[in-house]
Amino acid sequence: MAVRLEFLTQDSEERALAMRYWATDEEGAYLERVADLVPFREIVQSGQIAKQVREYCLAFDENQSCCLCGGEVRINGRAEAKKVFQRSSTPCAPCAELQNRKRAEQAALEQAEISKRLAYKMERSAAATLDYTSLPDNVVLLILAINAVVAPRLAHGTFGIADCDDLAPLNADKFVKQLCKDEYLLEDPGAAKAGTYFLQNGELWHKTYQLELFLPPDKTHGRGIGALGLLDEHRFTDPDSLFNLWLDYAVADVLRYLLDQCNIYSHDLEDEAIEKITSTVRHGLQTYSVAQLWSVMWKVVKDAASLANREYYNRPKAVATIPNKIRKLLEVADQQGGIQRSWDRPEHHLAGSLGMVFSNLFDIDEYSQGSHVIELFNRLRPPAQVETEHNLQSLAEAFMRSASNGPDPWSAMEHFADKIRAGLTTEDALMEAFGQ
Ligand SMILES: [Zn+2]
Repeated sequence: MAVRLEFLTQDSEERALAMRYWATDEEGAYLERVADLVPFREIVQSGQIAKQVREYCLAFDENQSCCLCGGEVRINGRAEAKKVFQRSSTPCAPCAELQNRKRAEQAALEQAEISKRLAYKMERSAAATLDYTSLPDNVVLLILAINAVVAPRLAHGTFGIADCDDLAPLNADKFVKQLCKDEYLLEDPGAAKAGTYFLQNGELWHKTYQLELFLPPDKTHGRGIGALGLLDEHRFTDPDSLFNLWLDYAVADVLRYLLDQCNIYSHDLEDEAIEKITSTVRHGLQTYSVAQLWSVMWKVVKDAASLANREYYNRPKAVATIPNKIRKLLEVADQQGGIQRSWDRPEHHLAGSLGMVFSNLFDIDEYSQGSHVIELFNRLRPPAQVETEHNLQSLAEAFMRSASNGPDPWSAMEHFADKIRAGLTTEDALMEAFGQ
């Protein structure tokens, strides 16, 4: 027998059963089938024999040595015994226990360190406030759109990045991550599930999609639906911030359509190609509508599909033509009076809550031409700012005119340069130089 037994019982019948269970011939084949060992007392099912035998004796496989300490390896049943000598695949019981204890100690140390670092983060999060009345325009729009998909948790609780999937037709997470980066949304580690934060090479890391986020309270009105109501009264005055957000959104809307179309034809766009297309589309959206660009996307994907079937072509080669084809079509459109066709939004392709916010507040959507959107946002610029900019323009014009028409343009320029060197702003330097 290649198994050494250590009996736990004095009962001769019980010892005999254990011996019969483990008895083998010289080749290691068991002498009796387990089925032949029943009935034994009240046991009639052979499946219960192994468990019974374990109560009568400990079995050590002499054909195995512990992979860590080289010591004996205890086995539980016939299936675990080896026929030829080998190192065990798992450590012996005492080694395993020691290993587990060390692991638990290490985990406890790490957990303590994580808790220490999170305490600092939580303290900072708890103290943070925002002024809801002076948030940038783009941030207000995004918060309103997030509220539409996670309410009422924006007012009271926490939410995750994945909860905001319906914010935009594509890459909704990018918008949320940007708000986190700019600290308009903060993490609440206390609300995140265990394992969200971990240490790696001494640094605190997190699983982004397990983070629980929240909107810090308003500095005077705190959190809640009442405070969020301040955002409904927000006056939009920053055309650049609004138009940039519109472009981010509209690019996602166009790209989503393109990727869906590519999917239909099994076109696989490389990251580099997508990056190139993104730039082209972003530029195109300054003039055209999302729906017009959809028609362009539809055409290039269809053309690539028929190109792929041609002789000397294959699918990757055909797909690689897409970025330049889009650019080419937009150039032609620019030269020949625009894009004639525009497509409707496919049913499964949602506008997303950000699209709804743009539509509700500014009445713009996939059919709005980029040029119209710019114009519309520009009208939001406060009159005073427009006037100042206008005044500065005319002041600069007048100064340059009088300098170049005057008797000594050089001295006029030098005078202006002196004022700048003295630390004046362009505007003040202009006023002073002009005054003289
Ligand atoms: Zn061992």
